[in-house]
Amino acid sequence: MNKSNIHRTIMYLKKREYINSNYIKLTFTGTDIEPFSKCTVGANNKIFIPPKGVEEVIFPNNNLKDELEETIAIRRTYTHAGMDLRKKEMYVEFVAHGVEGPASDYAINAPIGAPIGLAMKIKETELAPDVNSYYIIGDATAIPVIKAILKSLKADVNGEVFIEVSSQEDYQSLNKPEGINIHWIVNNKTAEDTVLADKAITYLEAIGTDVTTRFAFIACEFSNVRKLRNYFRKVKNWEREEVSAYSYWKYGVAETKSEKERREEKNRL
Ligand SMILES: Cc1cc2nc3c(=O)[nH]c(=O)nc-3n(C[C@H](O)[C@H](O)[C@H](O)COP(=O)(O)OP(=O)(O)OC[C@H]3O[C@@H](n4cnc5c(N)ncnc54)[C@H](O)[C@@H]3O)c2cc1C
Repeated sequence: MNKSNIHRTIMYLKKREYINSNYIKLTFTGTDIEPFSKCTVGANNKIFIPPKGVEEVIFPNNNLKDELEETIAIRRTYTHAGMDLRKKEMYVEFVAHGVEGPASDYAINAPIGAPIGLAMKIKETELAPDVNSYYIIGDATAIPVIKAILKSLKADVNGEVFIEVSSQEDYQSLNKPEGINIHWIVNNKTAEDTVLADKAITYLEAIGTDVTTRFAFIACEFSNVRKLRNYFRKVKNWEREEVSAYSYWKYGVAETKSEKERREEKNRL
C-alpha cells in the first residue's frame, strides 16, 4: 500500500456473464485482494488494461523509459460492483459499447485468464447522505453505483430514479425502497444528446421537487451532466452539497483525454 492508501494488484479474468447483450459482468480472481474488503461497493476503482499484444500488466510508473511507454497499461475508471473474499473474486460490470475503447474491448474479447490491474483507495465511501428524498439520474455506466445507492437507502425514503439505456432489453431488476420510483428511458442514440436530462427535468418539473431534505445524484454522459447540474444548482437553487454530479464519459473522447474537461465541469457550479 502506498502513502495515499491506494492498493493495487494484478488479477485475472475468471468468468464473463452477459447480463444482456449490452452489459457484461466480469469476475476477476487474485490472491492479493483482502485490502479491498474495506472498500464500499459502489465506490469507483481504476482498472489497468494491457495494450494489444502485451501479455502482462505494466502499471504506469514515472521511472519507466520512453521506449517502454507503449507497453504501459491503459487506465480506466469503473465501479466496485462487489467481491467474495473467500473465493478471491472481484466483480466489475461493463457497458459493451464496442471495441474502440480498450475497457469495452477487454470486456467483450479478453480470453479467460487475461490479466488486468485493479486499484482502489482503501476507505469507506459515503455514496449518498441521509435525507428524505432522492433524485438519481444516470445512464448504463451508472447502473452499478445506482444499485449500490438504492441498496444503502433506508426503507422509508422516497424519490425518482431515471436510467437511460439503449433498449428495453437493458432493463435490470433493482432492489429499492418502496417509495422510490424507477423510470427507464430508452434512447438508441448514435450521437451526443440530452434526452436523459430533458426527460428527467420535464418529469421533475411536473411533479415538483420542493422537499425538506433532498439529494440529487447524477452520473452519465458529459452533456446530460452539464444540463442537469445547471437545472438543480441554477434553476432550482439547490446547495452544492445537495447535488453530486459527475460525467462518467464524454461522447467521442477516450476517458483519459476527457478527464480534465470532466473535472472542470464538476467544479463549475
Ligand atoms: C467514477 C466512474 C465510474 C464508472 N463506472 C463504470 C461502470 O461501472 N461500468 C461502465 O460500463 N462504465 C463506467 N464508467 C464509465 C467508463 O469509465 C467510460 O465509459 C470509459 O470511457 C470506458 O472506457 P473504454 O476504454 O471502453 O472507452 P474509451 O477509450 O474511454 O472511449 C472510446 C470511445 O468510446 C466512447 N464511449 C466511452 N464510454 C461509452 C459508453 N458507455 N457508451 C458509448 N460510448 C462510449 C468514447 O466517447 C470514445 O469515443 C465510470 C466512469 C467513472 C468516472
